[in-house]
Amino acid sequence: MSSNAPYRIALIGGDGIGPEVVAAAVEVLDAVAQRHGIDFQYERYEAGAGLYRKTGESISAADMAAIGKADAILLGACGLPDVRKPDGTEPAPQIDIREHYGLFGGLRPIKLHAGVPGPLKAAKIDLLIIRENTEGLFAGRHDAFRPSDESVSDRMTITRKTSEKLFELAFAQARERRRKHGTPGHVTLLDKANVLKSNAFMRKVFDEVAARHPDVGTARVYIDAGAMMFVTQPERYDVVVTENMFGDIVSDLAAGIVGGLGMAPSGDVSETHAVFQPSHGTAPDIMGRGVANPVATILSAAMMLDWLGGRHGDSRCEGASAAIRSATAAILASGPRTGDIGGTARTVEVTKAIASALEDARVGA
Ligand code: ATP
Repeated sequence: MSSNAPYRIALIGGDGIGPEVVAAAVEVLDAVAQRHGIDFQYERYEAGAGLYRKTGESISAADMAAIGKADAILLGACGLPDVRKPDGTEPAPQIDIREHYGLFGGLRPIKLHAGVPGPLKAAKIDLLIIRENTEGLFAGRHDAFRPSDESVSDRMTITRKTSEKLFELAFAQARERRRKHGTPGHVTLLDKANVLKSNAFMRKVFDEVAARHPDVGTARVYIDAGAMMFVTQPERYDVVVTENMFGDIVSDLAAGIVGGLGMAPSGDVSETHAVFQPSHGTAPDIMGRGVANPVATILSAAMMLDWLGGRHGDSRCEGASAAIRSATAAILASGPRTGDIGGTARTVEVTKAIASALEDARVGA
């Protein structure tokens, strides 16, 4: 799509601070769109705990189908602590969307920005976690549940089909990061192949895929030691790939070393569909106060542009994404910043500062 046809973006604000941070990302997208000659057509959908409270479902079947027709989906966050299903779990349309569209690749870039206080001494942290999203230890989520007071099991399933797609994505991302950011081009597999049969199989498939990509370096590390390395030697990582539950845990750990969840963007992708959203939840403790950090969602919107650019061979998107990342980095360095990263600014001030920085020639096209 290098013509001027608009990109159709499905927007799901969701609950809590979700709508606030999505509004911020849209303001930044609109600012960059003008400058790069891209047109976005937004379609708004309701999903989450608020909808569940009203209707008994967290996303309607019609909307689940409709969002798949958009070019990409931008989501805030869903769920509220006091809204539960009869089985005690939270309505989670974001997980339902991942399963419905087979969004196996959870991309979670982790970057320490100048101006953002991190808990480690490391000056440079720049890595990408790829979490498998649809199987692993979450594979049995819909298995029949036989209540017992003696023993309950969860199932870890690793399939060749998903693992091959996942590892191909990891090697492609390592190469893409090398091209765009000058990173080394290296993939680390985190697993528990010494104990779990499923993980020994995953490592075998990883070795097969790695053999097809001799230009990209590899390492295989056990998840326990690998978790420690995020704290002791994060510079050893470029792309990190792992199964669902390990990825769930290390993504939040890694967000913690670069300033917290307000700094962690994400994208859940398949070959054909993608949802971009901040790694954080709905933060009910600060909702409606106008103090949420919009950076994770704004950087998720930049990832969305990268994905659209790759999928449609549209170099305007790559330029627009780079501009958002530069403008965001400039504002993180100079301020204003929100309270979670040591500042005092409100969401709107940070958003406007980033949108204005896009007008600045230094970070423009
Ligand atoms: P979930 O289970 O949906 O991931 P959670 O309750 O575990 O949600 P969050 O909703 O992400 O986690 O909130 C965790 C903490 O981080 C809260 O104190 C919240 O205020 C803070 N937080 C999360 N996102 C942001 C943000 N964008 N800006 C500022 N603080 C945030």
